[in-house]
Amino acid sequence: MADGASTVRVRSSSMPAFLSTPVACQLWVGSAVVAALVLPVALDHRVGEGHTAHEPWTALAIVAASVVNVEIGRVLEGGAAFSQRPHKALSTWAFACAIVLSVGWLLPVVACCYAHARWRGLRVPLWKWVGSAAYVVLAGVAAAGVVHTVLGEESLTRGNGLCGMVAVLAGTAAFLAVQTVMFHGSAYLNEASDETWLRRTLRQLTFYLTEVGVLLVGGLTAAVWIAAPWFLVLLLPVFVLAQRAALHEPLRQRAEHDDKTGLLRFEAWDRQARTAAARCSRHGRPWSVLFADLDHFKLFNDTWGHLAGDLALEAAAAVIRDELRDGDLVARFGGEEFCVFLPGTGLADGRALAERVRAAVAATDLPGTQGLTVSVGVATVEPGCDSSSGAGTGAPDLADVVRSADRALYAAKEGGRDTTRAHLAH
Ligand code: GH3
Ligand code: MG
Ligand code: MG
Repeated sequence: MADGASTVRVRSSSMPAFLSTPVACQLWVGSAVVAALVLPVALDHRVGEGHTAHEPWTALAIVAASVVNVEIGRVLEGGAAFSQRPHKALSTWAFACAIVLSVGWLLPVVACCYAHARWRGLRVPLWKWVGSAAYVVLAGVAAAGVVHTVLGEESLTRGNGLCGMVAVLAGTAAFLAVQTVMFHGSAYLNEASDETWLRRTLRQLTFYLTEVGVLLVGGLTAAVWIAAPWFLVLLLPVFVLAQRAALHEPLRQRAEHDDKTGLLRFEAWDRQARTAAARCSRHGRPWSVLFADLDHFKLFNDTWGHLAGDLALEAAAAVIRDELRDGDLVARFGGEEFCVFLPGTGLADGRALAERVRAAVAATDLPGTQGLTVSVGVATVEPGCDSSSGAGTGAPDLADVVRSADRALYAAKEGGRDTTRAHLAH
């Protein structure tokens, strides 16, 4: 759990984004960029000799494949040019490059692939774009080292391909390991609310499965290129499928999360909270629902403007999320209302958490405004609570408990706002 609202700040978009990140993050990204500029050149022709006699043409073919791939992705996304998530299966091409070319080619190939992807809609801040290209170059250097060590002087496609397959698998592991470490560095050294999406992504098994799939497509492409280049045409449908796989998770995430606050949408929350409530009831554990509503938010909008209102809403969402544990589920219920499912949380803990959330929101600095407050209601289900409306578990239904938390919230509003109320759900 984070230790309160003092870490949450609403930043002006005009601030130079990179310089406003913590120094540790700047050093991390800066070192990665320097390493990515130096290592491929320093190690060129020491790490393997490359597996093709036509290196410039091969490099061009890899960039062309990336271009085709990104364009396929655009078609699959309906030509969307904004708000795209930074996963375009770009590591496929860095990995293919690491296998078939000497490492000196990594830098120009990755730079061209990333430049095209950025031009065609990869909308991330410039420093994140440069940083992530550098991470991919470094991952490529590591993969090239491993692949060439395993293969020695042999060709990737020699014999029945067993040796080449082992080399590609080992290279995939090396690529993924370096990429994972580098992206974790960015996600956790950067400021709390800035990298929420990346941190959430890095916690998901699906990200790694997709990444392994994408890298193996790169390995397969390299093998086909060396053995029979024309067969690449037959790999086109595989690229389409890889793009679809890479797009699936971000789209699913977007469907489940509110754009403005990044919190769950209520429908997704309801589904997940029901499962978690049933699990708590089965194990005889208490659970609670917390309902929070910003105070006089209409007046806040009217006084400071709706854009300031939006920033305040985002800041309040970040404050609430920072007060919670990993297993807690938080959603934007609607407008300026939030609901939280708290597994294993009894009445006393629920009351204490509500008070922490209230105090943290009240302490949040919202530049250019007087700040705002929140009222919070909590309803708790203790083990042994019986209800006829439970779905065969004997426990109260989630909707009843949400209603009960809502009643507690109204009591907090009537109690003068900037306050909390908690009770057992009935
Ligand atoms: P109370 O203390 O009783 O909750 O008063 P309130 O003004 O917060 O409640 P009310 O329901 O009257 O107003 C809610 C306001 O929240 C009105 C609406 O403009 C604002 N709001 C809802 N969603 C958003 C949003 O996404 N952005 C902004 N800026 N305002 C929003
Ligand atoms: Mg409201
Ligand atoms: Mg309100």
